[in-house]
Amino acid sequence: MSVVEEFDALVLGSGEGGKCMAWHLAHAGQKVAVIEDRYIGGSCPNIACLPSKNIIHSASVANSVGHAAEYGTQISAFSVAMKAVQARKRAMVENLTEMHSQRFASSGATLVFGHGCFVDTRTLELTAEDGKSRQLSGRQIFLDVGAFATHPAIPGLTNAKPMTHVELLELEHCPPHLLILGGGYLALEFAQAMRRLGSVVTIIERAAQILTREDPDIAAIVADTLRSEGVEIVTGVSIESVSGMSGEQVTLHGNRKGRSYTITGSDLHVALGQSPNTRDIGLEAAGVAVTDRGYIQVNHRLETTSPNVWALGDCAGSPAFTHMSFDDFRIIRDNLAGGNRSSRGRQVPYCLFIEPELARVCLNEMEARRLDIPFRGAAIPVSSILRTRTTDETTGKLKVLIGDDDRILGFTALGARAGEMLPAVQLAMAEGLTYQSIAALIIAHPTYSEGRQTLFSTVSPRAAEM
Ligand SMILES: Cc1cc2nc3c(=O)[nH]c(=O)nc-3n(C[C@H](O)[C@H](O)[C@H](O)COP(=O)(O)OP(=O)(O)OC[C@H]3O[C@@H](n4cnc5c(N)ncnc54)[C@H](O)[C@@H]3O)c2cc1C
Repeated sequence: MSVVEEFDALVLGSGEGGKCMAWHLAHAGQKVAVIEDRYIGGSCPNIACLPSKNIIHSASVANSVGHAAEYGTQISAFSVAMKAVQARKRAMVENLTEMHSQRFASSGATLVFGHGCFVDTRTLELTAEDGKSRQLSGRQIFLDVGAFATHPAIPGLTNAKPMTHVELLELEHCPPHLLILGGGYLALEFAQAMRRLGSVVTIIERAAQILTREDPDIAAIVADTLRSEGVEIVTGVSIESVSGMSGEQVTLHGNRKGRSYTITGSDLHVALGQSPNTRDIGLEAAGVAVTDRGYIQVNHRLETTSPNVWALGDCAGSPAFTHMSFDDFRIIRDNLAGGNRSSRGRQVPYCLFIEPELARVCLNEMEARRLDIPFRGAAIPVSSILRTRTTDETTGKLKVLIGDDDRILGFTALGARAGEMLPAVQLAMAEGLTYQSIAALIIAHPTYSEGRQTLFSTVSPRAAEM
């Protein structure tokens, strides 16, 4: 029987929330160990947000070069070298790994590699790649094991060996014809990037529109933009079977509007969602319950059903964004210090990194109507922001929903640098300010942020004030 190594705190998985918790506790003088299977720092810097944005940026450069003549720069010929695109991304990931290793070292938290699994309520056994195992126990345990890409049980799909985002981000060539199953935000980011890098791309979506959670007018502008770049989008398709092999030739067989539908491509990427990494970590031995979808069951303080065990990030069913995992860390940290913070009612901002960007916080029209929340809406085309005239970035729309008390219920920005427009609105929302407080600001001209002010100035006053 091996000796059990004792720690004040154990963190399983070094994702955003987990690593921040480890660094915080270690800095506070606690003896902390983090068990990580393979990705130092979690998915975001290794296989998700940052590598995808790196490749998206390379694709954006290729797109700009392709349109250089429109801006007066003549380029006689150019080509994309995917190996160089990949090398740039890998160099960034290596750099981030180094940065994380240094951060672990300077924090004093011990990082140990292996697959962690509970053997009892306080003890995790980790099995390293060489098969050797160690047992670590902690007074407090934090679970941040993240999620993995899954696909539905469509006949032939598994045998076709479709790419997840992990394989797609490792490509050293452009697939001649990339089929993407799903029309959500990850699908669209990859679709635009791979098209710009040289692939023929077809998005196949089951619903009547891509981006099913967005207002139809916003989704339509995104679809038009992608189509204008040559991405084919086919909606209303239900796939019933798959034949062939991704990387060679792959065919999707299905149904569209009552007729049979077939499409053949060279490669297949399935972007149909994620499942939590909770199946093989011995949660039952720790008394940690999961939901019917396998997420770790937590209350609004992110406490699991086992005392002194918390869960953060994707595996806890928090909105699947790095910044939400970070906020989970802050909730637990503050509550451990005697606070009473809750994960309920948080703002969940997000940004879709296509060009133009799509960013949103809180309600859109569709959701407000579904929830029967009264609102006054205002919208402006981004072409009315004069800065966009200088850069030819005139595609998009800003939309805001205002409540009966003049407070902001939600803000959607589709346009250049949309992601950067959210925080000021979020701050106003968090502080309970009225929309007039943004409309009254003096904004530097000509900035993209002027659009926010124009938008808020067009909100109609309350009926009683008219
Ligand atoms: C392609 C892609 C692009 C994305 N882009 C964005 C974006 O732009 N912005 C954004 O906010 N979000 C983005 N996301 C979502 C974001 O990556 C996740 O929400 C975020 O990384 C979740 O972090 P986490 O803390 O839950 O865990 P993760 O970062 O997933 O970390 C979990 C860690 O646990 C480890 N682990 C799992 N099981 C075990 C075990 N048994 N033992 C030891 N270690 C284990 C894993 O190896 C992993 O390192 C993207 C996702 C994808 C797939």
